[in-house]
Amino acid sequence: MAIWDPWRGCHRKSEGCENCYLFQAAERKGETFDVVSRSEDFDRLTRRDAKGNACIKPGQMVYLCFRSDFLLPEADAWRAQAWEMIRSRPDLDFLFLTKRIERFGVALPADYPAGLEHVTVAVSVENQRRADERLPVFKALPIVHKLITVQPMLERVDLSAYLDEDIEGVVVGGESGKDVRPLHDDWVTDLRRQCLQADVPFTFRQVGSRFVQDGVERKVARQYLCAEARKTKIDTKKLYHIKTERLVIRKLRLSDLDTLVSYRSDPACARYQRGTKTDAQALAGLITAHEASRLEQGETRLGIADGHSNSLLGDIYLAMREKTITLGITLSPAAWGKGLAREALGAVIPVLRQNYPGYELAALIEPENAASIRLFTALGFAFTEYAEKLRSQVYVLAGDAQ
Ligand code: SF4
Repeated sequence: MAIWDPWRGCHRKSEGCENCYLFQAAERKGETFDVVSRSEDFDRLTRRDAKGNACIKPGQMVYLCFRSDFLLPEADAWRAQAWEMIRSRPDLDFLFLTKRIERFGVALPADYPAGLEHVTVAVSVENQRRADERLPVFKALPIVHKLITVQPMLERVDLSAYLDEDIEGVVVGGESGKDVRPLHDDWVTDLRRQCLQADVPFTFRQVGSRFVQDGVERKVARQYLCAEARKTKIDTKKLYHIKTERLVIRKLRLSDLDTLVSYRSDPACARYQRGTKTDAQALAGLITAHEASRLEQGETRLGIADGHSNSLLGDIYLAMREKTITLGITLSPAAWGKGLAREALGAVIPVLRQNYPGYELAALIEPENAASIRLFTALGFAFTEYAEKLRSQVYVLAGDAQ
């Protein structure tokens, strides 16, 4: 990790800036922060030491302009050169946060491509007004990696209109310092719910110096802000796009139909698929029904695809009833015997445990389905009972019941 501040200083832009810690830190030192100046580190990105090695070593995440705003008007004269330096270092990853996303096009090099693969931009929105102002602009811009940061979160916000595959994550946090505004836990959990619904990863970064939990406000010392947020264990991960060594777990799509029909009609595969339809029309309906489905709605289905060709190899069925998530897996016979079912479930299960803490994970397996029993046992599931009505054995992931 490296920090690169090509310029320093800033101006308050909106409500979230009121207690900006950079202004407070400067005031404590008797300095001023609202004068923007080019820093002595301006060309640090391209500087080399006596041996010719880059001063900022390759392979790092560079936090850009964390003591300013990259899109400040005062920096317009320097920004084109900064972009050129960024482009000259594809061996690094860059992240900058801004409250001025409407200025993204100012001083952008004329030949700026449709986004830079190694640059992530995070737009900061502190309330609904700023979200509705900044996020429509943000979503229309040619940026490859987009994050939304709701810090300091000043009120309940509804971001559902802006959350889709384009947004790689939402980061939430409260305000820190003296005389700050409180953060309410239900604002945070409501935004988490929106992120789960949209399959956008959610991170609760820090609680804020005034944290209202279950209606009771408490003060939290600066050094515990992040640890207190971590304690809540409410961060989420993407479920509908998971990469493993050989696979990608993704949504089913209509282009998968022929493969789905082919393996579901195969007698070896259909043997344990009780009640599952095999004709093309019914399976097309199943794909359509599951394309936009979410687990919280009761059930969903994930495609298991080859990591290189993206061609379908199987699917995972997930059903949520009360506090239990039931998993089922079907793999095309051509993909049997390679450990792919274990690889797919081994990637999905940790995400389910993280996104749905307190839920029990279960599998219903016919007693004669020895391969599935071996698979789920190897994944840590243990036999609990025989469900007469379903003619299945119930396996539960050990240690998951809470
Ligand atoms: S934009 Fe960021 S750095 Fe600038 S005043 Fe606001 S909070 Fe501080």
